[in-house]
Amino acid sequence: MITIRNLTFKYRTKDMFDNVDMDIEKGKITSIIGPNGSGKSTLVKILVGLYRYNGKIEINDIPLLKDNRKDIRKIIGVVFTNPDNQFVAETVMDDIAFTLENMNYKKQIIRKKIEEISKYLGIYDILECNPHDLNSNQKQLVSLASALVHDPKILILDEALTMLDPYDKEKILNILKELNSKGLTILNITHDIEDTLISDKIYVLDKGKIVLSGTKEEVYKEEDKLHNLGFELPFMVELSNRLMFYDLIDHVIYDMEEMVDILWK
Ligand code: ADP
Ligand code: MG
Repeated sequence: MITIRNLTFKYRTKDMFDNVDMDIEKGKITSIIGPNGSGKSTLVKILVGLYRYNGKIEINDIPLLKDNRKDIRKIIGVVFTNPDNQFVAETVMDDIAFTLENMNYKKQIIRKKIEEISKYLGIYDILECNPHDLNSNQKQLVSLASALVHDPKILILDEALTMLDPYDKEKILNILKELNSKGLTILNITHDIEDTLISDKIYVLDKGKIVLSGTKEEVYKEEDKLHNLGFELPFMVELSNRLMFYDLIDHVIYDMEEMVDILWK
């Protein structure tokens, strides 16, 4: 879905990426994890066409070039950390409509699409509210609705779950898993290793370099490398490792319910 080859990018005062390659596969959940300042948001800005870069990037087989920016934005939806910075309108309804108006959708279709997505995400009742008055979970759901309303092929989350409490985070993670199972490709960018548990593939980024990549199983095996970057293993992986040491289980169990079930038996 996204192919990145020899990506090189510098800020005026700073070299950021030097020949980076990455593949974000169609239909999968890929996570990019890295400490603050590792270049995650810079990469997102490049992918949405805000910065000029050297190298080759293709999104859904369309080369990411200035002339194709409009076509590319149609297939991407992005959610950032702080939804407050993304709201543009006085009501949730108008805010979600904004993306579609920019893409010249007809009024009737706009209404239908907003109804669909807001019902799906459980925010239909707050369409008339001012987005700034909502709680953080609702705000993030509104951002998610704006990012999804034009049926993108890929959803990019730039630390979009960071501000949520664990309960709301779990709810949104479940929604993401469901959307993924319906075919949405997800690029999940985070500095919290717990948020990578939903991924099929993980890239670990440090100072603009990919220092580790693979399936989540492969990446979680590299405990020392993760440690050196300041990351602990996700709780369920750490717990599984210890229980495996005592032969209480024989594989890593990511799901708490499943773990309890197996230990109980
Ligand atoms: P992350 O999202 O992983 O925290 P960023 O991509 O925001 O990292 O930033 C990566 C590095 O680039 C940081 O060192 C940051 O200070 C620097 N940086 C970000 N934006 C700019 C800019 N506009 N000009 C110069 N340096 C920048
Ligand atoms: Mg960032």
